[in-house]
Amino acid sequence: MRNLALLVLLAIGLALAALPRIERYFIAETAAREEATLRLATASLRGALARSEALPALLAERPILSEILRDPDNEGLLPFANEQLRQTALTLELADIFVMDLRGNTIAASNYRREASFVGRNFAYRPYFTDALSLGRGRFHALGVTSGQRGYYFAAPIIDNTELLGVVAVKIHLDTFEQTWRDGDNTIIVMDSSNVIFLSDREEWHFNTLGPIPDGARGRIAATRQYPLDQLTPLPATREPLGPTTELLRIGAEEYVTNIGLIAAAGWRVWVLTPTRHAILQARQALASIILVILFAGLVGALFIQRRARLLERFDQQRHHSEVLEARVTERTADLHDANAQLRQEVEERRLTEARLRKTQTDLVQAGKLAALGQMSAALSHEFNQPLAAVKSYADNAATFLDRDRPEEARQNIGLISQMADRMAAISKHLRNFARRPQEKIGPVPLLPVLDDALALMRARLAEVGAEIRYDRPEEEITVMGGQVRLQQVLVNLLSNAIDAMEDQEVPVIEISVETRGGRWQVSVRDHGPGLSDASLAQLFDPFFTTKSPGKGLGLGLSISYNIVRDFGGRLAAHNHEGGGAVFTVDLAPASDETEIAAQ
Ligand code: ADP
Repeated sequence: MRNLALLVLLAIGLALAALPRIERYFIAETAAREEATLRLATASLRGALARSEALPALLAERPILSEILRDPDNEGLLPFANEQLRQTALTLELADIFVMDLRGNTIAASNYRREASFVGRNFAYRPYFTDALSLGRGRFHALGVTSGQRGYYFAAPIIDNTELLGVVAVKIHLDTFEQTWRDGDNTIIVMDSSNVIFLSDREEWHFNTLGPIPDGARGRIAATRQYPLDQLTPLPATREPLGPTTELLRIGAEEYVTNIGLIAAAGWRVWVLTPTRHAILQARQALASIILVILFAGLVGALFIQRRARLLERFDQQRHHSEVLEARVTERTADLHDANAQLRQEVEERRLTEARLRKTQTDLVQAGKLAALGQMSAALSHEFNQPLAAVKSYADNAATFLDRDRPEEARQNIGLISQMADRMAAISKHLRNFARRPQEKIGPVPLLPVLDDALALMRARLAEVGAEIRYDRPEEEITVMGGQVRLQQVLVNLLSNAIDAMEDQEVPVIEISVETRGGRWQVSVRDHGPGLSDASLAQLFDPFFTTKSPGKGLGLGLSISYNIVRDFGGRLAAHNHEGGGAVFTVDLAPASDETEIAAQ
């Protein structure tokens, strides 16, 4: 940024240093443009002079001029001659026409009527007179001695046959040119070979000199009375060459660029002076524009640099942010990776634990069942002993009847033996089913036959304690979700607990109900025992919670049952009945028709 500022300053410095050159350039341009003005001025002056140059020779042909020169005192002729000259001057737009004799005395003149008339005046000192006589034609420019007006003179000799009689001269005024020049921006000066300003639209410069008056010129001027000598003062001018035809001219405070042309016939140089102020102003404006452009470029450059710096900064920031972000992401990813690995390990551990638990649960179920079998063993031995005793007595009877040759009675007894054997086979089958380790899945299970099986299993024990079952078996078929053996196990457990609870009662009454509620099936087993204490209610389903004496209960029955029912998508709940005793309810989901029958 600092470099840029320095660069801008340097550029501005260089531009300022180049100002003079720029000015020169614009001045030169101006000069080139003004060349046309110069050409116009010289051409018009040349034309004006050329137009009048031949007039004296033509006028000299007029006979009246010879006549008046031969007879200058002819009172009759003179007015006529004068008037003729006046008319001619008017027609040709000449300032004056006048006729001089060989001594230079004016005989007749177009301005004869004017107070300051030439008539009677002598112009022998004027070069146009002498030149006309000696060279055959004369030309001269001067301030009129009589009129006080500047003019250009052309003169020619008046020759009658071969006799030289006098000179006729015409004078033209050049003031009109000055008036025209005044309209332009520039100043035009016409300077003669003596460096005297003869014509100019700046009136105050008339007869000033621009440059030294050559040697001898002053004497000549005095002799020919060309200019008033006292007015020949130099202008306070300094000159400086600029180009081949141009120079810089300073007059006082004003500076001009010049275009110089030559009118050789008159010995004149025409100078067009154009003030340089416009060119300088233009140069300065151009410089100001350049500086503005430099400043603007500097500004644009500064903005660009600033913008680039800001962009780079932002880019850096973004890169930094993204690096930080990336680092954080890597860190988090590593954390997540660790956490993931840990989770996977935990999942694996849980899976193993669950498998172990499942195994333990199966073992416990089996243990629970065997415990129940143990509890039932007394009743079962009675169940088997009673038909066995009967079989023995029927067999004895059959033998006796055979001995007595009464085969009919013997057959009758043998039939009874067969019945007893069937009964024992049925009990044995139930026991086998119960004791078997179940490998069943959960599926639709017919609820009522399972309940029937459970009651059949418990029949011996129920009979032993003389229990009364109140059960209003529904007619319809009810299918619930579960496993046949495990559901049976749950129901056996509930019946068994009910019997235990009413140990000391004469006729224990167990009420069984099967109801539907909220689209689900509920099997309730109610006893008339002491019911459940608060402590029991709180821990009922905890494993190894028991109030029974050692050897009588393991405290696993309800815990296992609870889990079994939960596995079925059901619920095992307990509460005390208002009429006394405990109520255990198994809530089961109904099986939909499409559901596959589960394999046993
Ligand atoms: P166990 O019968 O081996 O004690 P359970 O899990 O079957 O194990 O029962 C736990 C306890 O719940 C019992 O010891 C008893 O205190 C209580 N209990 C179970 N059923 C009943 C019931 N019908 N009436 C009163 N108490 C009951």
